[in-house]
Amino acid sequence: MRYDQARWTEDEDRYEPLLAEKRSTTVDVGGTESALPEDLTRESLTLPDLSEPELTRHYTRLSAMNYGIENGPFPLGSCTMKYNPSFTEDVAALPSASVHPDRSKASVQGTLELLYRLQEYLGRIGGMDAVTLQPPAGAAGEFTGILIAKAYHENNGNDRTEVIVPDSAHGTNFASAALAGYDVVSLPGGEDGRVDLDALTAAVGDDTAALMLTNPNTLGLFERDITEIADIVHDAGGLLYYDGANLNALLGRARPGDMGFDVMHYNVHKTFATPHGGGGPGAGPVGVTEELTEFLPEPRVRRTDEHGNGFELFTPERSIGRVHGYQGNWLVLLKAYAYIARLGDVGLRDASAKAVLNANYLASQIEYDVPFGPFHHEFVASATNDAADIAKRMLDYGVHPPTTKWPEAVEQALMTEPTEIENRRTLDQLAKAFNAVTAEDEAMIETAPQRTAARRIDQATAARTPRLSWQALDEHDEQ
Ligand SMILES: *Cc1c(COP(=O)(O)O)cnc(C)c1O
Repeated sequence: MRYDQARWTEDEDRYEPLLAEKRSTTVDVGGTESALPEDLTRESLTLPDLSEPELTRHYTRLSAMNYGIENGPFPLGSCTMKYNPSFTEDVAALPSASVHPDRSKASVQGTLELLYRLQEYLGRIGGMDAVTLQPPAGAAGEFTGILIAKAYHENNGNDRTEVIVPDSAHGTNFASAALAGYDVVSLPGGEDGRVDLDALTAAVGDDTAALMLTNPNTLGLFERDITEIADIVHDAGGLLYYDGANLNALLGRARPGDMGFDVMHYNVHKTFATPHGGGGPGAGPVGVTEELTEFLPEPRVRRTDEHGNGFELFTPERSIGRVHGYQGNWLVLLKAYAYIARLGDVGLRDASAKAVLNANYLASQIEYDVPFGPFHHEFVASATNDAADIAKRMLDYGVHPPTTKWPEAVEQALMTEPTEIENRRTLDQLAKAFNAVTAEDEAMIETAPQRTAARRIDQATAARTPRLSWQALDEHDEQ
């Protein structure tokens, strides 16, 4: 007998029935007085009739139809899919953590202090002078940061129209700049995978509002010329925006603020510990230098007096306004706070060391072409087969595949980020899966995965028209 993930299709022994299909009882509910219209009432009701163990096993089996960080390594490059230690969940589950956002400020001084401390921690980690905790995701942080840059230029009487984004940047960078009303100028990468200074010099000008950059970049390469890059942008009157998705490569070692960045977002779910939000609830705090502080969203938290006896909310002088309700996603922020406080300076430095060591070790163990390097927290390997096929087959080996076909600078890209949480044994298991797949024949790879709940799905359609219930699935089958 072998064990496979459950399936929705009614084949083999793998079909996991709905609860009511397992066993159900029909209960008589007729004859009672009801104020509801007749067509909304019924005489009998069919309910699942199962024991607690049966119920638990059903949901446990369903939960195993997906692949998560609890199942094994998840080296999805740029996404930083790492395990969130459960103590952060414990902290968020404390009864005192559930505070209604409308409570009087006097009664939530502890909550405000904690938010204040998180602002301070993040400012220190990023080398930024002030931080807002409001944005609910990294992408929302980008949008907020670009709105701040826009407010800054407008306040200086400058009508700048362009934001420059390297062509290897995350799609959200282009979208955030466009949503803020800017023309997006795509910057081609240099031969070494980094920013080409000549191309940058040619691209900047009086219209440049900002350059958006992540460092290390999406190829896992540190932008060694970052101070020159900052000078080029600043000399043209533009601002330098830091996409913080890769900050776990630098934690406790280097700070965007010291590199010349003026505004940045933090992906707390990538760098610190909170679950990935799928668009939310997450958090993408934004840090800025002194000269941009007055434009931050409201409300921010500050001490009521120099002696630190109390905390209050306030609106920065030229605030761009609100970007989220209340103080942002409080419980997500609480988890990030707990993680930073628990690890401390030494722990954060250790996290970045391991993130970088793990990426370079794994890159050295796989039998693929790995252009560029040396790497920080991630690397991009090049597959000889179709990268998406390789990725699908890796699922059959019990590991999550890397990000595929991005960035485009690498042919059939496999963008791999093992993260700091994995040990050598797991990295070896990952390398084994990479190497086993590339040694297989094409027919096997092209039809993979064989052993998962869902086989090849139409990913674009699944994302654009998701059917999120089994009823929708049934309706579809009937068509
Ligand atoms: C994940 C990511 C983002 C967007 O962050 P979200 O929190 O997912 O909205 C932006 N840039 C890079 C490089 C990323 O990897």
